[in-house]
Amino acid sequence: MFNGISIQQFNKFFKTEDDCKQYLFDQKWTDGYKCRRCGFTKSHKGKTSFHLRCQACHYDESVTANTVFHKLKIPLLKAFGMSFRIAVKKKGMSTTELAREFSINQKSSWLFKRKAQESMKSSGNYPLDGKVEVDELLIGGSEKDKRGRNKGEKKLVVIAVEKVKDNKIGRAYAQVIEQASAECFKPFFEEHIDSDNAKVVTDGWRGYWPLESEFEIRQKPSRGGKSFPGLHAVIMNLKGWLRGIHHHCSARFINGYLDEFFFRFNRRNFLPSIWHKLIERFMTNQPYSYKANAT
Ligand SMILES: [Zn+2]
Repeated sequence: MFNGISIQQFNKFFKTEDDCKQYLFDQKWTDGYKCRRCGFTKSHKGKTSFHLRCQACHYDESVTANTVFHKLKIPLLKAFGMSFRIAVKKKGMSTTELAREFSINQKSSWLFKRKAQESMKSSGNYPLDGKVEVDELLIGGSEKDKRGRNKGEKKLVVIAVEKVKDNKIGRAYAQVIEQASAECFKPFFEEHIDSDNAKVVTDGWRGYWPLESEFEIRQKPSRGGKSFPGLHAVIMNLKGWLRGIHHHCSARFINGYLDEFFFRFNRRNFLPSIWHKLIERFMTNQPYSYKANAT
């Protein structure tokens, strides 16, 4: 596993296409081989040294087959470099920055970034527990649109933040919702908050009331966010980041940007493994096809 955190370390480790293929090979078959077609567990060398062929059905699988790296239109070395920047740089990389740095066109950069965001989506396997604060925020549109929970042109986002020892912020998740109603909060709560172990705190909004049958919820007045300083620091941080990339971020894809932001945020104390984690996701996510004109 590569656990460097600087571009210099990265460039030293990955110099050629084969270096990348070897890394993927180790990642893919490190726990043993299993034929995707028939399930047999013995293989021999396939078409190239980065393929394995099933000894029973002779299915020949390349190291990139059934991964996000399959049939990428850019060299693997560039895809590795791009994913490294996206994962490790504190603010990530915009599609324009990626296109410029890796000398690829805007369309390829946009497509790769979408695939990365898709892979950065939470697995939902580790819901927040302990003390969890929940609030909503509005993003996009202009500031003067904001009138209470009336969202105008803006998108409404629900956010949940875990408080850990010494009142510090642990992990957090956020997602676009249609409206601030229990019906819209529910799927987000169920995916990201542990109903058995979390003690949820929200402001006094009545939209949270129906969830009390499933979650332990305590409400307190928000006082303009002053009652939830940690949560509001995360919100300001997220808003600042989104503003910085705003003209690249259409409303339709805001969830992708939220996934990207919180993938990095939730791993901010585990930087040496964050890129490897993204590669792991790339290896298990099926290639997803986007229409580049869908912005
Ligand atoms: Zn087979």
